[in-house]
Amino acid sequence: MKRINSIYYCKNDENCLIYLNLKNILMKTDLGVYDFLEKREYLKESSDNFIENALMGIDIENKSSLEEYKIKSNNSEYKIKAITLFMTYSCNLRCTYCYEGRSQEDHDETFFNEESLSSFISLLKELPIEEHCTLIFFGGEPLINFNMIKKVVESIKLDNNLKDRFFYSITTNATLLDHNIVKFLEENKFAITISIDGNELKTNVNRKTASGEGAYNYIVPNIKLLKNFNMIGRVTITDSNMDLIDNHKHLYELGFNSIAQSESYERIKMINYSVLNNEIKNYYNYFMQCLHEKDYTKCSSFKDIVKQLISIHLSVRQERHCGAGVSLIAVTPDVKIIPCQRFLDKKLGDNNKSFIELCKYDNKYNKKYKCNECIAYSTCSGGCYHSNIIFEDYDSSNSPFCKLNRTKITNAIKVYSELEESEKEILFAKMY
Ligand code: SF4
Ligand code: SF4
Repeated sequence: MKRINSIYYCKNDENCLIYLNLKNILMKTDLGVYDFLEKREYLKESSDNFIENALMGIDIENKSSLEEYKIKSNNSEYKIKAITLFMTYSCNLRCTYCYEGRSQEDHDETFFNEESLSSFISLLKELPIEEHCTLIFFGGEPLINFNMIKKVVESIKLDNNLKDRFFYSITTNATLLDHNIVKFLEENKFAITISIDGNELKTNVNRKTASGEGAYNYIVPNIKLLKNFNMIGRVTITDSNMDLIDNHKHLYELGFNSIAQSESYERIKMINYSVLNNEIKNYYNYFMQCLHEKDYTKCSSFKDIVKQLISIHLSVRQERHCGAGVSLIAVTPDVKIIPCQRFLDKKLGDNNKSFIELCKYDNKYNKKYKCNECIAYSTCSGGCYHSNIIFEDYDSSNSPFCKLNRTKITNAIKVYSELEESEKEILFAKMY
């Protein structure tokens, strides 16, 4: 897409597409407007307001549900909607990309215990928690400490102030699941996210047991125990795993209802980013192919793409990249609050960053990257705090994070502009 001030635009055979990056508003109009915008010499002197006024009257593609959305999400931004609770740092697997950066010898044996439980329940009563909040059991491998997971849930249920306010979720490698655990998860309506990197070959490259054996064959039989759950598959993209389409197909066939694929930026060499960029474009094309085949159930399984399409549909402009330290927090096994799970990273030194400090990061990186000129501004708003610190030396023109983000939003805009009204209705049916 081309850009004038805060207006991105492009054309196809029939229409001109205009995207206002600061507002996450997408407009479709006739080709005459494209010619108008092409008069750069004249327009480059004009203010954004002038250009926006000139475009007034054009039907906004995505205004339909915006007002309703705003009413529903009113002012709840500063309340905690999700808490990631570390049950342990320990894990029965030895995945090469484990972001806690611990070697096999350096496996931290800290566990959430009885003492942590009483402090945690007291903490829940003090925190500004949203009426309904998701408690995500995390690790290491949280199921190593399954007994304490049960005790946390039981304690919440026994407390009149807390019961009925929590949804439960767990992120697990699935290798320790058994009938007893599955029964408990089912009774308490857990959402389940399973870390798995695609087919056997891809998964086994990085996900290994303590003896160095590939983990795939310990994961897949247990997935069959979860037929009554909405399972999310979480893939980590690295140099050795960039075939997003193949990963998606494989996990969908295994029964995952939703698939999220996120980059481990530290595990991708600079030279490989152009390959990944192409893979991302192909992935969006694959989504379109499923859409043309009217396979809407499969379309809904593209977790990241659907999330972006909804954001364009509702013209949601994120104030911050994420809710770390504000609407989401993480709690360590010894009940210390950190902004999110990645702030355990030892490279960050003191990880107990306050929200105020994170706001400083917002300003610093927004300025450094010139985010308000970026097409991804409304959906990114300055980038992941953790990645920004890790990639301190990059600017937005060579930051791998920024490049991939721009590819994703550009493709999402293209996909959204091609959706029929009936397709939007089906795809976004579950968004409220
Ligand atoms: S800071 Fe980064 S890793 Fe943490 S929640 Fe936000 S986006 Fe996710
Ligand atoms: S992609 Fe980069 S430049 Fe664009 S908004 Fe995000 S951090 Fe800023």
